[in-house]
Amino acid sequence: MTHAPQALPPEITVLERGWLSANNIVFRGAHSGTAVVDTGYCTHAEQSVALIGAALHGRPLERILNTHLHSDHCGGNAALQAAWPGVHTAVPPGHLAQVRDWDADALGYRPTGQQCPPFRADAALLPGTEVLLGDRPWQVHAAPGHDPHSIVLFEPQDALLISADALWENGFGVVFPELEGEDAFAEVSATLDLIERLAPRTVLPGHGAIFYDAPRALDAARRRLDGFARDPAKHALHAAKVLLKYKLLEWQQITLEELQAWAVATPYFALLHTRYFANVNFLPWLHSLVDSLVRSGAAARAGDVLHNV
Ligand SMILES: [Zn+2]
Repeated sequence: MTHAPQALPPEITVLERGWLSANNIVFRGAHSGTAVVDTGYCTHAEQSVALIGAALHGRPLERILNTHLHSDHCGGNAALQAAWPGVHTAVPPGHLAQVRDWDADALGYRPTGQQCPPFRADAALLPGTEVLLGDRPWQVHAAPGHDPHSIVLFEPQDALLISADALWENGFGVVFPELEGEDAFAEVSATLDLIERLAPRTVLPGHGAIFYDAPRALDAARRRLDGFARDPAKHALHAAKVLLKYKLLEWQQITLEELQAWAVATPYFALLHTRYFANVNFLPWLHSLVDSLVRSGAAARAGDVLHNV
């Protein structure tokens, strides 16, 4: 069953960002105060502070909530905490200790070669509990798969879902634990089943525009998942290209020599290469990834310089 678009409650503003930064969902509750869910990538932090500040209509930011701690979802936390020093920050429970000890390996920033300025975490967002956002109770649900600790938020009255990277209009985020040797495709599938049971009428995804046809998105996601499960190397190749494109979004342009130096120093590339593509030497494999981004129109090459497209 598909649903006609419904207007969002007036307490909510969705800031749809480019792909380097996750969307920011801003709440202005008369009683529950102000809050933002997810904060973007650090190189956009100044813009995030300005956009979120404008969406607060002159009120201070009181709470930050992160669906998960990928660098594009919490990279603005530090800047927001500096702009509003009293802001309370809640993160998924599985990563609370790693934030408090600032473990850039366990949080995945060093392995993926991404940046995230250290921030403070005050509390855990426990699955099975509710949080008040825009004066309404939102359910916290565990949504492992893309990230083992990710949560999604569901508001039952209007059937609104903040789906993070568990479900986009066309797909879902790379299944990182699977690449590290865990059986995480099954978790993705279980999370898609959870979303189907919640039956959202409006989905506020981590990336891309708001959408209303969750059944169609779930169908597409399951087909994609089946393809990956049948051919895990296809998923690994997709992941390598996503990591490269993401960094290109940050760099905008880079010499092939610098790109190569970054990839050699980024453990995730060695992991992907060793586990899935060891039949080709590392550098030719890396160059084949670059060629593939250029062929698909995600990058352009001029001499020794690669440009984001
Ligand atoms: Zn993510």
